[in-house]
Amino acid sequence: MRLPRIVQLEVTTACQLRCTFCARTVLKNQWVSAHLDWEVFSSLLPFVRHIKLVHLQGWGEPLLHPQLWDMAAAIKQRGGRVSLTTNAVLLDEVASREACRIGFDLVAISVAGALAETNDSLRVGSRLDQICANTSYLCHLKPRPKVTLIMQMMKPNMEELPELVTLAKNLGADEVVAPNLDYTPTPEVAALRAFGLSPNSNYIKLIEEAKRKGKELGIKVHIYSLTPRNDVLMCDAEPVHNIWITVWGEMAPCPYVALPCRNDFPRLFWGKEEQLPRFSFGKVTEGLDRVLDNERARPFQGAFARRLQTDKLTILADAAIPSMPTLMSRFVAFQKTLAELNARRQTVGLPPPPSLCQNCYKLYGL
Ligand code: SF4
Repeated sequence: MRLPRIVQLEVTTACQLRCTFCARTVLKNQWVSAHLDWEVFSSLLPFVRHIKLVHLQGWGEPLLHPQLWDMAAAIKQRGGRVSLTTNAVLLDEVASREACRIGFDLVAISVAGALAETNDSLRVGSRLDQICANTSYLCHLKPRPKVTLIMQMMKPNMEELPELVTLAKNLGADEVVAPNLDYTPTPEVAALRAFGLSPNSNYIKLIEEAKRKGKELGIKVHIYSLTPRNDVLMCDAEPVHNIWITVWGEMAPCPYVALPCRNDFPRLFWGKEEQLPRFSFGKVTEGLDRVLDNERARPFQGAFARRLQTDKLTILADAAIPSMPTLMSRFVAFQKTLAELNARRQTVGLPPPPSLCQNCYKLYGL
C-alpha cells in the first residue's frame, strides 16, 4: 500500500480576515466558503497512523471549523501526528489549552509583519498585539506543541524580517519561517512579491541579518530563496510524497492547483497570466491508497519521480569524476565538480515536470 508521508487537510475555506495578498480576498467573487464534512474527514482516519503528519490547513482559517478539535483528537487517538496553521485570532487561552491537551505536534502562526502597523494593514481584520498575546500564552504552556511564526516575504514587510526573529524569541516561539508570496493571482498581488530574477541586495542583507539573529537568540530560521533556480528536481510541496486534500475531499498534489473557486482561476507567472482549471486525482472517500494508484495520480507523481531518478543516475555516473588531491584546492574542486554535474545534468536532460507545474514559482525553488 503506497501512502503519503504528509497529508495537508483543508478543514475550511472560510476566513474572518481580508488579507490584501490572499487569493481568498482577491478572488472573492468566485470563492466558495465551506467547511470539511466529518464523513469526508473520517475516510482518512484508517490511514493516519501510517502517515508522518496530518497538517490542518487550507485556504481558510482552521479554527473556524466547529469540529476542528474533534478532528485533531480523532487523529491523535488513532496514533497519528497533527499540526495546524492559524491566524491566531481565535487562539485564545481556552483554544491554546485545548491544543496542548489534545497533543498537537506543531502550531504555526501566520503574521505579515513584526510591527503592528505593517501586519494590521496587510492582514486586514487582525491585530498584531492580539496575535502576540495569544502566541505568548500558548508558548508558556507545558507541555506544548512546537510553535512557529510564519511570515510570507513581501516588499512592505522585508525590513522587519530581523525584527521578526526577535519577536519570536520574546514570545517564546521556536522557529521563524519566511516563504515567498508564491501564488500571485492578480497584478496587484504580484507587485507585492519580494523575489525577482535578480537579487535585491538590501533584501539579501536583511535575510543574512535575520539568520544571524536566529543563531544569536537560539531561534531556528528558515528563509526561502529570493531568486529562482533552474535545477529544482521537485518543488517543496514534494508531490511524490505528500498530498493535499481539499475541503471537498479532492486529493491534489498541492494547494496551488485546487483553489476553492467556482470556475477556472488565474495564475500569474513573471507577468504572464493564465487560467487554470481545478485539478485533482480523485476523492479521498474512494480510498486514499486507491486514488494514489489511479491514472491521474501515477503520471503526475511519476513525472517528478523520473526527475529524481535521473538525477540519482547522473550523480552515480559522476562519482567517477576524480577528486582534487590537495586540501588547498578543495573549494576549487567543489566548484568544478558542481559545474560538471550541472553540465552533465543539462546534457542528460531532465524529464519534464507535469505541464501544470511549468509556470509555478515553486518549481523554481521560490
Ligand atoms: S510545482 Fe507548483 S503546481 Fe506543481 S506540485 Fe509543486 S507546488 Fe504544485
